Amino acid sequence: MQTQPTASHFIGGTYVEDTSGASLISTFPATGAEIAKLHCATDTITEQALSAADAARAQWRAMTGSERGRILRRAAEIIRERNHELSVLETMDTGKPLQETLIADAASGADCLEYFGSVAAGLTGDHIQLGADFAYTIREPLGLCVGIGAWNYPLQIACWKAAPALACGNTMVFKPSEMTPLTALKLAEILTEAGLPDGVFNVVQGLGDVGSRLVTDPRVDKVSLTGSVPTGRKVYAAAATGMKHVTMELGGKSPLIIFDDAHLEDAVSAAINGNFYSSGQICSNGTRVFVQKGILPAFLERLKARTENAVIGDPLDEATNFGPMVSQNQLDITLGYIEKGVNEGATLVTGGKAHANGGLFIEPTVFTDVTDEMSIAREEIFGPVMSVLSFDSEDEVLARANDTEFGLAAGVFTSDLTRAHRVVAGFEAGTCWINTYNLTPIEMPFGGVKASGVGRENAQAAIEHYSQLKSVYVGLSRVEAAF
Ligand code: NDP
Repeated sequence: MQTQPTASHFIGGTYVEDTSGASLISTFPATGAEIAKLHCATDTITEQALSAADAARAQWRAMTGSERGRILRRAAEIIRERNHELSVLETMDTGKPLQETLIADAASGADCLEYFGSVAAGLTGDHIQLGADFAYTIREPLGLCVGIGAWNYPLQIACWKAAPALACGNTMVFKPSEMTPLTALKLAEILTEAGLPDGVFNVVQGLGDVGSRLVTDPRVDKVSLTGSVPTGRKVYAAAATGMKHVTMELGGKSPLIIFDDAHLEDAVSAAINGNFYSSGQICSNGTRVFVQKGILPAFLERLKARTENAVIGDPLDEATNFGPMVSQNQLDITLGYIEKGVNEGATLVTGGKAHANGGLFIEPTVFTDVTDEMSIAREEIFGPVMSVLSFDSEDEVLARANDTEFGLAAGVFTSDLTRAHRVVAGFEAGTCWINTYNLTPIEMPFGGVKASGVGRENAQAAIEHYSQLKSVYVGLSRVEAAF
């Protein structure tokens, strides 16, 4: 296998180039070195991709679920066989440590293709007996889907959208983030190698304008976006105009509540995982860490010691467990929030600066004495900045945890399981964890409430968002009429 994609777009089963599109340079965030030069999709390219996906609908939906599933499962196997090279490519494109990408990115994509490859054959409707008559439902694909991805989990996001869409018999045009254009192309290549008919899954590159062209095209039936809340609002509104289905996986400012009776080391581990994995660039991160006052001093002591053990450096070195930010822009945003945290009166426990390595590296940062109204406690930073807030009682902390426009995720640590379930029942969040954090297996639905999103990815729940029911009433009696 050629490691690098050979052109900018993948349409109709093959790589396609149009050098008249604006150039799009992919760089290795750790060094700034150019790793690929691509071009944004021109109108001709987006038209070609939409036409290919439109033309492929009939053949793909006519295949049986078993046939579709077999192709997805074969693609999962190929991804697993090539895990190492795909992980290296993902690390080069995103800057995330190879230690992470080797287990979290391509592997999650393969799990997803395997899962939906397995459920494809079991997608059926219902029989409904109505006295002498009966009705039945047919589960049909929505049609042509557009997938738009963020830059933090490029291959995983492409798989999380493509696998359920394709399992249900839809076709797709996918646009990765312009910052991480490479691995979605590899997914298209692998799906083709696995036997996917030409045009069923296509990839085009570009910025928001390309995404917008795709979303507004009348041939498109469904839009699935992973991105920020402001982009989500725009894309949802554009999709609504065309009465299209949507899945919106958006941002968050999730609470992680740690009670006095929590297992201290596990709680610290969860706070580290939920703030510093992928250098903090994860939508479901528990960035508001509420710690009960009795355990707070011990928690801060262990958190500081363990955070200062982070191995920051070359993401391609498997010993590194904390890499650079994806871009200068994301670094600047994060440093800006750290400055605000200091100015608004929070206390730095550790970190707080660009790292001595230079480049796009930043120190994993912990603030304490954070209050609910501070910017670092209200706004999504999408960088390695943890806010620790203290609390006294369960009722108080639950009200504060829910006092946000977001509702993506939430977690609770306690050894009192009754309390754990009670707190989870009170969370205004789509995805919750008890005594762990940020685990997102394919078998569990994932998604947000409030401004954090609409719809669910993964598990059986995703089937509802990539298919629709046709109801058929079968009359077996004589037809009566009033006159
Ligand atoms: P953005 O919202 O900036 O972009 C998301 C995608 O939408 C990109 O591909 C972008 O293109 C595209 N886009 C931008 N404007 C439009 C438009 N008007 N029409 C169509 N498409 C458009 O998000 P980021 O890429 O910066 O990702 C970070 C955000 O994603 C965070 O808020 C994070 O919380 C969220 N996220 C949510 C996840 C979830 O599952 N809930 C998972 C991962 C991240 P381009 O950037 O190339 O211009």
